[in-house]
Amino acid sequence: MKTSRNTRRKCNLSRSTATTTLATTLRSPSTVLFILLTVITYRTYALDLDEEKNQFITNTGNQKKQFAPTTTVNDETRYLDVNASPIHYDGTQLWRIHNITNYIDENLIPLADILEYKYGGNVWKANVKFLDVSITKDHLKSARQFLKQNHMPVEILNENVQKLIDDEAAMGVNLTSSDFGKRTRKSTASGMHFKDYHDLDTIYSFMREIRGKYPNICRLYSIGKTVEGRDLKVLRISENPRDYKKIWIDGGIHAREWVSPATVTFILYKLLANWTDQPDYIRRKTWYIMPVMNPDGYEYSRRENRLWRKNRSPSTHEQCYGVDLNRNFDIGWESYGSSTHPCSDTYRGHSPASELETQAVVKFLTKRKFNLHSYLTFHSYGQLMVYPWAYRATKVKDANILQRVANTAVQRIAKKTHQNYRAAVTYEVLGIAGGGSDDWCRAALGTPYVYTVELRDRGHYGFILPPDQILETALEGYIIVDTVAQAIN
Ligand SMILES: [Zn+2]
Repeated sequence: MKTSRNTRRKCNLSRSTATTTLATTLRSPSTVLFILLTVITYRTYALDLDEEKNQFITNTGNQKKQFAPTTTVNDETRYLDVNASPIHYDGTQLWRIHNITNYIDENLIPLADILEYKYGGNVWKANVKFLDVSITKDHLKSARQFLKQNHMPVEILNENVQKLIDDEAAMGVNLTSSDFGKRTRKSTASGMHFKDYHDLDTIYSFMREIRGKYPNICRLYSIGKTVEGRDLKVLRISENPRDYKKIWIDGGIHAREWVSPATVTFILYKLLANWTDQPDYIRRKTWYIMPVMNPDGYEYSRRENRLWRKNRSPSTHEQCYGVDLNRNFDIGWESYGSSTHPCSDTYRGHSPASELETQAVVKFLTKRKFNLHSYLTFHSYGQLMVYPWAYRATKVKDANILQRVANTAVQRIAKKTHQNYRAAVTYEVLGIAGGGSDDWCRAALGTPYVYTVELRDRGHYGFILPPDQILETALEGYIIVDTVAQAIN
């Protein structure tokens, strides 16, 4: 079966080993041989943002950080190789491959799979027109040759992915450490600011700090645990949880998309920063905010592999960990755009909602579906605001309303930060992909305003977005939230 849908998928991803693909390949002995040979592998309250320092300020004094479980499982090494040094990407290049349509239409095995299995590729983003993939140093020549033979021009987006990663880290340290000597105001106990990406501990400390400061309107939930024993935390902001319309916001489903948890944390800060001055459409809502849906994967991406996408659950394949949580929800789970192979970056898991993170979110939201008016999930990259469906090539019946609200948000962003975001239905721009959290929420709970947001950028830095772009990107996220909240009145 030939289909370009297999190669287009949500969320900057990745491989396309859909069931259909696997079924097709298994029918051909030569392709089975090929696969076998190549597979390896957060009242005008005192919350304040110091403009000069871009530093979140509170007066709560110093608290000892409480959260530090790396692992609470017995066999630590099974989940985290403490002896392993972080994966390096020296000499790895980031390519944008053009003219992929012909190849996709004429070949059984998806291009992404070939690049992954045969040329050490890591697919960053795929859509109808191009494929962004990083290729390790020792495969550059052979991969280029293969692409040339198949008339697919390569545009080098970056010469050295490790330099991107090192520069990102260095900029974060510089932007943060330059303040240390001249600090006069007490900084927050959590250390939250938006000049660098933070570890889970800091993000959770910030959530506890907010809850402690505004106990009358905030409630902090632990809605479950991960396979490595980390809490799944959600903060509720509401003056009237019983009656107000609800809006859910999450981030960090995919580990390497660091600007997503940063943006959702900023949204939490921004909502509360001048709460008593907020318009009614903000104040008279119940907000559920989950900055990191995939804490194990997020920490793994910070410590071991900057390009990690999935969670960290072990699989039947001893070398391969993790399920793509945004392919694990019970909606079109067996359809296109996900993989049945545990080693794939888009592995959907052994059954719908097989993962603890998925189960926790499903259970929490299902219990609160009454009056749930919006589900907003933040990813990166691509600068898109998309709405259902993704699991099939049709639009929801009120697509015109979703498109209109998205258009407004996109226009407001362009005015404010001069960045172009595109508003569209998901399957048209990212292709068919089942198992997404957005589709699930719409289909299972009937939530009207469902959007997936792909934050900055459009491919220059990709996932490795420099920390000096966090604040503006997060502002773009807040504009989207504000616009949707205004639409729900
Ligand atoms: Zn994503």
